Amino acid sequence: MYDINKIMAVGLLLFGLVVVVFVLIVTLIRQYLYFKNRIKVLEKRNQKLEAKLEAKSKSIADTYSVNNERFNYFNAIFSAMKDGIVVYKGSGELIVVNPVARKYLHIDKHIFFKEDRSSYGAFYNKLEQTCRVTYQTKESISFEYEDGEQTFSVVSLLIPDRYNKSACLGVLAVVTDVTEARRIEQRRKEFVSNVSHEFRTPMTLISGYAEMLKMWDEVTLEERQKALGVIEQETKRLKKLVSELLTLSRLDSMEENALPLAYVDVEAAIDQILWTLEDMAAKKQITFISEVCVDYPILRANEQFFYQMMLNLIENGIKYNREQGFVKVCAHNDETTLYLSVSDNGVGMEEKHLHRIFDRFYRVDEDRNSKHGGNGIGLAIVRNAVTYMHGSIHVTSSPNEGSEFLIELPLKHGQDGGNR
Ligand code: ADP
Repeated sequence: MYDINKIMAVGLLLFGLVVVVFVLIVTLIRQYLYFKNRIKVLEKRNQKLEAKLEAKSKSIADTYSVNNERFNYFNAIFSAMKDGIVVYKGSGELIVVNPVARKYLHIDKHIFFKEDRSSYGAFYNKLEQTCRVTYQTKESISFEYEDGEQTFSVVSLLIPDRYNKSACLGVLAVVTDVTEARRIEQRRKEFVSNVSHEFRTPMTLISGYAEMLKMWDEVTLEERQKALGVIEQETKRLKKLVSELLTLSRLDSMEENALPLAYVDVEAAIDQILWTLEDMAAKKQITFISEVCVDYPILRANEQFFYQMMLNLIENGIKYNREQGFVKVCAHNDETTLYLSVSDNGVGMEEKHLHRIFDRFYRVDEDRNSKHGGNGIGLAIVRNAVTYMHGSIHVTSSPNEGSEFLIELPLKHGQDGGNR
């Protein structure tokens, strides 16, 4: 017989066991579901993170490429600039030196790696020092520096911080070669002073003699005639000076692409000049020798300038000649060039003057009231006219033997109307 109590106890035990197993299974299932869910959430988060990371790295790559592109653009701009550019970060770290600055300041590309830059010479040191002062005082500074034959203008400027108005990132220095500008300025000053001087001498003479003539009854006939003679001669000189200055100024301001020009009859123009100067030559018994054989039509040029150029040369050949000398004019052409020469056996010039005689107001004989009465503008007109016609001029001369002026004018240039 079974013991009922034992059976019940075993039954209860089994039931308890089943309950425990059930609770365990339920707990396991819940845990499983919880972790599955968690893994899903984490996976999603991971995917989002990955996407974000990808977007970030793409934007970094884009920024890098944009910066790289910008750097290339800036580099190209700096390299192409005619001015020298030097940039310092803060008060001393060198960031940019473009090729022009390297040339002007006599520095090489190793400058970026040098702690001590004193070996780069006075100009670079002055620039660096100036930039340091600009950074400290927050004031722009400009100065001019003469380096041998060249003059440079330097400006140092603060580089402001875009995001912080009160701060600045560094200093930018711009170096400009102003040699040509200063030279032109100097020449302009000399020109004005020369013109004033040229006018003053004849005007002083004219007003002096006019004053004298006011006392008409107190001066002798001879004195009156002398006064009138001087007034007439100085008025002529002034007239010539004004007309020469006008020609020079016209040549200076002539536009390159004016209307197409007519052909110049070279032979006829030279004949006309020789005829005009016949009396002047006869006074010194000077002989003209003309060897002119030029095709027509061949030279397109401004006729007035061509005429003036030849007239000045031939007139000089007479003026700076001796009694019974000669002036020889030659002209011939080939397909491409017109060759002109004016020579004489007159007083000639020393070698040292030859490179200056085409300068405005330059005279070999410094005396402004010399017997020839020239004002030193004739050859300046000749050179300007030759340059205007895209040609070249050469002179050979020796004292007491004579001079020869050789001009070559290109013809091809003129066929399309560009030779003027
Ligand atoms: P100017 O009106 O004084 O003659 P130019 O400009 O024509 O001025 O000439 C400049 C200088 O060159 C003259 O003062 C003269 O001394 C010199 N010169 C020009 N042509 C001759 C020449 N054929 N022979 C000698 N000297 C010349």
